Amino acid sequence: MRHPDRAEHPDLAIGLDVGGTRVKAVGIDRMGSVLSSAVVTVPRSVDGLVAHVVATVNGLCLRFGPATSLGIALPGLVDPQFGARSLPGKLPGLEGFALVDAIQRAIEIPVTCLNDGAAATYGEWRYGAGMGLSDIVVLTLGTGVGSGVVVNGRLFTNANLGSGGGLGHLTIDAEGPRCPCGNRGCAETRISATAMINALWDHVSRGVPSVLAETVLTGPGEARFENLVAAATTGDLLATELLERFIRDLGTTIVSAVHAFNPTAVVIVGGMTVEAAAFLPQVQAYVSAHAWRYPRDRDIPVLVGALADLAGAIGVAAYAREKDPPPQTMTRPGRLDPAEIEAPSAQRGGMTGDLIAATAGAARDVLRSCSTSHGWRVRA
Ligand SMILES: [Zn+2]
Repeated sequence: MRHPDRAEHPDLAIGLDVGGTRVKAVGIDRMGSVLSSAVVTVPRSVDGLVAHVVATVNGLCLRFGPATSLGIALPGLVDPQFGARSLPGKLPGLEGFALVDAIQRAIEIPVTCLNDGAAATYGEWRYGAGMGLSDIVVLTLGTGVGSGVVVNGRLFTNANLGSGGGLGHLTIDAEGPRCPCGNRGCAETRISATAMINALWDHVSRGVPSVLAETVLTGPGEARFENLVAAATTGDLLATELLERFIRDLGTTIVSAVHAFNPTAVVIVGGMTVEAAAFLPQVQAYVSAHAWRYPRDRDIPVLVGALADLAGAIGVAAYAREKDPPPQTMTRPGRLDPAEIEAPSAQRGGMTGDLIAATAGAARDVLRSCSTSHGWRVRA
């Protein structure tokens, strides 16, 4: 039966952004306009998630006609034609689950998965704050820290990465707290909303005075980043100190990303950016003072995203429709075998050849130790 509101949109593309607590869904037309959006609490099981995805797709197709594609944004290390390969500490059951296969058994539309930070990046680049720019870095600031990079007008992705750039796991304090990824002192352990509230709780529980003490000690989840910003605004010393540290740590993360990718602009998105007025000018000043670029007076603007919390859903819908060429499926574990780093032959002659060979050997040793002690690895 034809839906009473049905209007044909031949290029309907559907995107779902699966987060830690909510699933956001959109249907977009060929111009990227949102035809419909919905947000639900994340289902408790993967079967429930699959059922939700299928019901969403069927509902949108009933209203707007056939869809060209379905994109699903997931946290963690994501295999485009499989699902989440590595997802430490989040969404139990989804890690290693063949999500694409399960959905593809119920619907015929082509399905593509993408890391959620990369999806938000694609959305902001195609239709948001980064539109028209060929090189941007995007950081998503929420319960975790995601990221994505557009280089030379293309989303940076490859078969072994799958994490959207992994900038949330740049080390900004080698002695810092343990991160779920296995590393220490990742940006996510310092600038995510979770990290900020943990730091607040840590200080208050040790007796450091704050107007937020009662709220924080009431129970986990009672205090939010917005509360911390509000407390800092009223002169609370602990909240002010934590907000200043956040500004420095976010600035540090952005400066490292700028040095790695030399973007035209950096875009921040996610729930924490609702409070951007309280930290963005200082973060911009930090980046302008510390980033190495030429000419020296060329500012690298730090912008707030334009698509609010739908950037990931819109982005993955657009990516699934437009990707060209399609991303490769991971065909092997995303772990570089140290034996694959070839020491250059010494045929270059003299000390240079010896030096290069020694450097390659050192790189092998470092990689061997890192690959056994730190970082996310894709399970074969
Ligand atoms: Zn990490």
